Amino acid sequence: MPELSRLPVPVTESWDWQLRGSCRGRDSSLFFHQPHERGSVRQEREARAKQICRQCPVLRECRAHALTVEETYGVWGGLGEGELRKLISRNHHPA
Ligand code: SF4
Repeated sequence: MPELSRLPVPVTESWDWQLRGSCRGRDSSLFFHQPHERGSVRQEREARAKQICRQCPVLRECRAHALTVEETYGVWGGLGEGELRKLISRNHHPA
């Protein structure tokens, strides 16, 4: 669940990058899992989503946003949920 208090202020400049995302207009179910999706089905869906992210001109902005708001649902910035959780946890408990 994202930490809503970390969302950027509601000004166009903070959100404009989303207009340039390669996922824009695509089926969102590729980026967000359905309830009870597990195992290889989830891995393959995430892999297809990440393939789109790799070509995305705003990958860095998207990833920074996800890590800032601590988004752990879906594929963001080329990272899956497990990767997002790991990086967010690392930010809370730096070595
Ligand atoms: S990096 Fe991936 S999830 Fe983020 S805007 Fe681009 S295509 Fe969409």
